Amino acid sequence: MEPYSADRSLYGKLRRRLARLVATKPARLSGLSRPLLTISFDDAPVSAAHEGAAILERHGARGTYFISTGLSGQESHLGRYTDAADIRALHAAGHEIACHTLTHLDCGRAKGTAIAAELDANHDALIALGVPAPRTFAYPYGDVSPASKDVLNTRFTASRALHHGLVVTGTDLNQAPAVGIEGADGEDVARHWLARAAAMPDSWLILYTHDVREKPSSWGCTPQVLERLVSEAVAKDFEIVTFEDGTRRALVSETTKAA
Ligand SMILES: [Zn+2]
Repeated sequence: MEPYSADRSLYGKLRRRLARLVATKPARLSGLSRPLLTISFDDAPVSAAHEGAAILERHGARGTYFISTGLSGQESHLGRYTDAADIRALHAAGHEIACHTLTHLDCGRAKGTAIAAELDANHDALIALGVPAPRTFAYPYGDVSPASKDVLNTRFTASRALHHGLVVTGTDLNQAPAVGIEGADGEDVARHWLARAAAMPDSWLILYTHDVREKPSSWGCTPQVLERLVSEAVAKDFEIVTFEDGTRRALVSETTKAA
């Protein structure tokens, strides 16, 4: 079975462009001594929670896991998804447990009421696992609509999309850019963006992947690739933060910073 993919039509592209104009939450990043980097794992398969987390932890870093609890424990093209024990262990190790839609519902094409119902159910399921209420979100398939941004804006401090870019002052944190470590050229693309962020003061790069295994899906990477990228980020003096930590830094007002 082919995995579902987001709307690639002209209408879909226009909807995502239009969404960039509404319910915005501009970032303010200034005075950073080091560029910020977030490593995030979407959905998230068990390999991301085991191999992926272990790589980050060896470098003293923590990641963000965008969880769809409705997929919990199921087999998929990304391998088996994390279950309750995996998610609790990630939280206990200091990783951020963040929100995806309950069943991986595509926010680009769903009604606001359907999205809200999925968010409520995913929130409740995470609370029932004993982890804190999620504070950030990632759009499944990266697909966005103006209606979905309105719903998400009131519930989360930030929401991550999938278009390439860096977070700098003015970037919309309700539709934050991200770069995938996925596919045959995933490592090269991520390395290119690490270099761009390292050369730009007051920038924040958000990377994402899915499975982390020897034979990854087209949406994942190998443990060796992730290890090389995290090592390079450490060598380039990036500060590795969770998505929530980065958001907190990017939403601090200038007055608070000056105090
Ligand atoms: Zn996803």
